[in-house]
Amino acid sequence: MTMGFLDNTYIGNILTAVKSLLTGLGVTLREFFTRKVTERYPENRKTQHISERHRAMLRMPHDEEGNNKCIACGLCQQACPNGTISITTRTVTDEESGKSKKVLAEYHYDLGACMFCQLCVNACPKGAIEFTNEFENAVFDRKKLIMKLNR
Ligand code: SF4
Ligand code: SF4
Repeated sequence: MTMGFLDNTYIGNILTAVKSLLTGLGVTLREFFTRKVTERYPENRKTQHISERHRAMLRMPHDEEGNNKCIACGLCQQACPNGTISITTRTVTDEESGKSKKVLAEYHYDLGACMFCQLCVNACPKGAIEFTNEFENAVFDRKKLIMKLNR
């Protein structure tokens, strides 16, 4: 804002300084009465709300009988840009039809290498994997971050 004849004068400079001081104090005062968003973690662990869409860890849901939806197609492994997923398969033969098919043997996921991009979940044609929002996953040994997701 210009102050006309007061610009660049001694009094003008004082007025400019007072104005900017009041502007700053106004911001401080407004923030003082604004609802605080700082989390008192971990004291608030029991009441803390984590957004459902927060990506913390990949998991493979299982039904009550312990079955998952994975068809061992390997698309998630291919979609992963940094080799976080490692799948091993085995071949089973149907006794009645005599046909063989590939099934999932082990599904390994390295949480320590995951960058939570969700490309694996998007690539899965069966909705067999998803992200949980369970975020407290710190460990002292990185090997413990490599998990077998299928039962
Ligand atoms: S979220 Fe990304 S980095 Fe993590 S396992 Fe899936 S594709 Fe790989
Ligand atoms: S989790 Fe999905 S994409 Fe990955 S192997 Fe199983 S079915 Fe295929």
